Amino acid sequence: MLTRMSSLFLRTLREDPADAEVPSHKLLARAGYVRRVAPGIYSWLPLGLRVLRAVEQVVREEMDAIGAQEIHFPALLPREPYEATGRWTEYGPNIFRLKDRKNADYLLGPTHEELFALTVKGEYSSYKDYPVTLYQIQTKYRDEARPRAGILRGREFVMKDSYSFDLTDEGLSESYAKHRAAYQRIFDRLGLEYVIVSATSGAMGGSASEEFLAIAPTGEDTFVQSPGGYAANVEAVTTTAPPARDVDGLPAAQAHHTPNTPTIETLVDFLNGAGLGRTFTAAETLKNVLVKTKTPGATEWTLLGVGVPGDREVDMKRLEAALSPAEVALLDEADFARHPFLVKGYIGPGALAANGVRYVVDPRIVPGTAWVTGADKADHHVVDLVCGRDFTPDATIEAAEVREGDPAPDGSGPLSAARGIEIGHVFQLGRKYADAMQLDALGPDSKPIRITMGSYGVGVSRLVAVIAEQSHDEHGLVWPKEVTPFDVHLVIAGKSEEIVAGAEQLAAELDAAGLQVLLDDRKASPGVKFADAELIGVPTIVVAGRGLASGTIEVKDRRSGERTEVPLADAVAQLSGRG
Ligand code: ATP
Ligand code: MG
Repeated sequence: MLTRMSSLFLRTLREDPADAEVPSHKLLARAGYVRRVAPGIYSWLPLGLRVLRAVEQVVREEMDAIGAQEIHFPALLPREPYEATGRWTEYGPNIFRLKDRKNADYLLGPTHEELFALTVKGEYSSYKDYPVTLYQIQTKYRDEARPRAGILRGREFVMKDSYSFDLTDEGLSESYAKHRAAYQRIFDRLGLEYVIVSATSGAMGGSASEEFLAIAPTGEDTFVQSPGGYAANVEAVTTTAPPARDVDGLPAAQAHHTPNTPTIETLVDFLNGAGLGRTFTAAETLKNVLVKTKTPGATEWTLLGVGVPGDREVDMKRLEAALSPAEVALLDEADFARHPFLVKGYIGPGALAANGVRYVVDPRIVPGTAWVTGADKADHHVVDLVCGRDFTPDATIEAAEVREGDPAPDGSGPLSAARGIEIGHVFQLGRKYADAMQLDALGPDSKPIRITMGSYGVGVSRLVAVIAEQSHDEHGLVWPKEVTPFDVHLVIAGKSEEIVAGAEQLAAELDAAGLQVLLDDRKASPGVKFADAELIGVPTIVVAGRGLASGTIEVKDRRSGERTEVPLADAVAQLSGRG
């Protein structure tokens, strides 16, 4: 198809939008791919829509190739199925809720596990029907707390979500492996640099779960990797616990007056100057952070004590992931006032146990380890408080920060940190939704078999921004061939009849050869046209200018910047070979 810039619905901008912070957002707005309508809500203009459709097509082809069947659900959904799984409540403020004229509750679908499970239940009944995998490419709605970076984190966005339905755990593993491989093919075709990290399951509940993260310094997700190939979300990193030790023969706990030591640093300095006959490090102190948690649907907050070695902070994201779907918040002054047994800066396991506060600790705090910690009295600490002898935590929790240099849990070396953007998620849901929806197949012995599900998502609209994030330069976007809005951007660089006629003819021939051609036939200066061509990012730019007189055009590779003179006679063959 031949598209003329003179009539294309496109206005490029010279300035970055005021709210744009990341390159993809700036460039997609400046090059006229998307326009903001409201926070996290964007329109797709012709160029953007072409790229979005191309990404969809790659995703669709790879899903079809693993035997997944495409269907399409409404975005406007009734409350009941989400009530049945508890997610109407769990989602809290993160979903858009609305009422119809009869005052019935609806929501705009944030993800569709419930509908898929119900639909399969409605159509299938025998074990012979399974396994089946269904998918859709659909608009999702989430009232994100922080919509950001344009279409990277929208409140309306396009997702490919698929769901596998299997009779057995082995079947689920197979469906999962197929999706994982399909996702690798999708992201490879899109030319992305990415890692696959093990993830926490978050609000979904279930077992195996991995995320695909596109590597980008602007990414919101921090992940860690080791030289031996371990990669994980920070939320999923597990701490290797040291072996438990014998408590026999350890010195008894002693309380000390430690004036003005509300922080770990002041405490360690004080102890080392107190003539106790040994030196202390922050890693030997036990810091107790008090938070409050609220399970979905609960009205009251519950106190929770979190103990971590004093040389580490509590990482709120790790803590939230560990406690999900419960909400977590730090205590405020009013909470401390309400619970006078909590002596700020000097909280120890003793007062927590005495007052029935659940106490969870970092896995490094094993029986037989001795700690310096708060004595539940202002300006007092206790030394040699031994886990398993003087206090007994209720459970362990992964809440301490992960640091570069920490050992990978699989022994594959020290961890280093990098940033990424989540582009896909594969997840073995198991039977959670099948249980909620009573999704069974009738087995060969006429007994019901509970179905096990997998859920798999790709951020289709986000991918447009992620590709832009990884593929641009200071002049503009640079699309990979799989998703470029056009194969060739043909610039008419000159006003003479000869140049215009030559360019028009070349455009018509390229079009006839099956290429998508964008012809810049505007009455603008060559400088303006070149700048727009660089900004728009079609990978092959052809300049039809003075060279036409001697029968040549110039072909510029947008990515490398390399220019070649090509005889007009060879142009179609060469460009369609490239295209
Ligand atoms: P995130 O951690 O980025 O909020 P998520 O874990 O909530 O994502 P999933 O529910 O796993 O996302 O959704 C599947 C895919 O949909 C994600 O991998 C991501 O690529 C995409 N996605 C999720 N939320 C958004 C959003 N607000 N805007 C654009 N794409 C999104
Ligand atoms: Mg996810």
